[in-house]
Amino acid sequence: METCIFCKIVAGEIPSAKVYEDGEIVIFKDIHPMAKVHLLVVPKDHYRTVKELTPERGEVLARALKKVADLAPSLGLGNGFRLVVNQGESAGQTVPHLHIHVLGGEPLGWE
Ligand code: 5GP
Ligand code: ZN
Repeated sequence: METCIFCKIVAGEIPSAKVYEDGEIVIFKDIHPMAKVHLLVVPKDHYRTVKELTPERGEVLARALKKVADLAPSLGLGNGFRLVVNQGESAGQTVPHLHIHVLGGEPLGWE
């Protein structure tokens, strides 16, 4: 997707603070952090919402979540973290490429 900002980050066309990358996902720091640690887990495959999940895409997401859990201590998330996946306009999804917010590094409220 030429116009998708996360596809451009995946392609390395615009810079990001990457903390992990493999053949199927990239994890980088959110440009406007809402917690001390705020990462975005982005599958390299462009699709918008969980409605477009397939078994294969689901397996990529499962591996991505396991990777986050494995990396958590080294990312400053050893005391726990929150996963958020905004879906659509009312939820505040601004980037139409599925991504998982990972928030932590400090005690989090629940608002
Ligand atoms: P959404 O609102 O779609 O759930 O989350 C999109 C997130 O992407 C926001 O938290 C926003 O700060 C982040 N974001 C948008 N553009 C960029 C960018 O160019 N670089 C990085 N690192 N984060 C971005
Ligand atoms: Zn995209």
